[in-house]
Amino acid sequence: MKVTEIFHSIQGESTYAGRPSVFIRLTGCPLRCTWCDTAYAFYGGRDMTMDEIVAETRAFDCPLVEVTGGEPLSQPDSLALLTRLCDEGFEVLLETSGAIDTAGVDRRVHVILDVKCPGSGMTERMHWPNLARLTPQDEAKFVIKDRADYEWAREVVRREGLFTRCTVLFSPVFGDAEARQLAEWVLADKLPLRFQLQMHKYIWSPDMRGV
Ligand code: SF4
Repeated sequence: MKVTEIFHSIQGESTYAGRPSVFIRLTGCPLRCTWCDTAYAFYGGRDMTMDEIVAETRAFDCPLVEVTGGEPLSQPDSLALLTRLCDEGFEVLLETSGAIDTAGVDRRVHVILDVKCPGSGMTERMHWPNLARLTPQDEAKFVIKDRADYEWAREVVRREGLFTRCTVLFSPVFGDAEARQLAEWVLADKLPLRFQLQMHKYIWSPDMRGV
């Protein structure tokens, strides 16, 4: 498999935010979100076997592991990697763009599914059946750039009945959207979701790799 980096950090998003976690960042992504902060994962990467990935992950002695990218599911072996990590006893998160079918993902994995708002420029790439697969152990994440994104996300959440099926995360585009404004919209509409900021970008530098 092609691996951009494996590192130990604080989980910065989702209901797991604040927990120490190992991140396995797989190389490659077929999308090009306007606000992407991991373009360095589009190309290159180290060739690693699954055994090498697991050994490097295990060396951090941390029970929580997130497989991310790029878009991790763009590498077909990622499905076997997710199952292997579960079999090894890790608590496993998958951060995925929403564009690739999640049907083959091991059900022990907690899926954090991006739903690409119009401001990302990638809405038409969404694989919508992925939303129907979300369960209470999963999370749907909307990164909001402006009011148009917010209204679009609010409509999708209601149309898909997401509030009753999984955790819903709304976060502002880092350094672009106004966090306070988004928080006020959420409160005004009484949406039962989890508002979040990307904690790791406040702890470390926003453009730093491996955090
Ligand atoms: S899906 Fe993720 S890695 Fe791919 S372009 Fe969008 S933000 Fe970047």
